[in-house]
Amino acid sequence: MTEDCLFCKIISKEIPSYILYEDDEILVFLDINPITKGHALFIPKKHIANLCELKEEEIGFMKKLPAIARKLKEVTGATGMNLIQNNGKDAGQVIFHIHFHLMPRHPNDGLTMLPPRTALDKVGAEDLINKFAQ
Ligand code: AMP
Ligand code: ZN
Repeated sequence: MTEDCLFCKIISKEIPSYILYEDDEILVFLDINPITKGHALFIPKKHIANLCELKEEEIGFMKKLPAIARKLKEVTGATGMNLIQNNGKDAGQVIFHIHFHLMPRHPNDGLTMLPPRTALDKVGAEDLINKFAQ
C-alpha cells in the first residue's frame, strides 16, 4: 500500500470501484472512463509502479491475465480483446501502479488506435542490436 496511490486506495476500498474480480493477489475493475464497453483494469494488489520496476519473482499475478481476458470476452460477447499497458509518463501512464487495460472489441466498433507506421531504419536497428548484446 502506497498512501498517495489511487489504485492502492481502490484496493483498500477507500475509493469505490466497480469490481469484476478480486482475490488475494489481484483486482479487476471497470475503468472509470472506458474506451470500449467493458474496458477493465487488471492490477496486482502489491504496489509496483510499472513494468520496468517489476521483479521476476513478482510476476506470478500475471498468470491470471489470460483467464480474466477470456471471461471478460465471454461476458461482453466481444470478438476480440486489446491489452494495453502504459509505462512511464511519456508512454501515457497516469496512475503509477502497474495495470493492464483489457478492452473488449467488436466488429466495426470504430476504434482505431494505431498511428501510421514508418519503415525500419536499418542503421538504427543494427546499432540497437549491438547495444542490446552488450
Ligand atoms: P494509464 O493512463 O495507463 O495510467 O491509465 C489509468 C486509467 O485509470 C485510465 O484509463 C483512467 O480512466 C483510469 N482511472 C482513473 N481513476 C479511476 C477510478 N477511480 N476508477 C477506475 N478507473 C480509473
Ligand atoms: Zn498502488
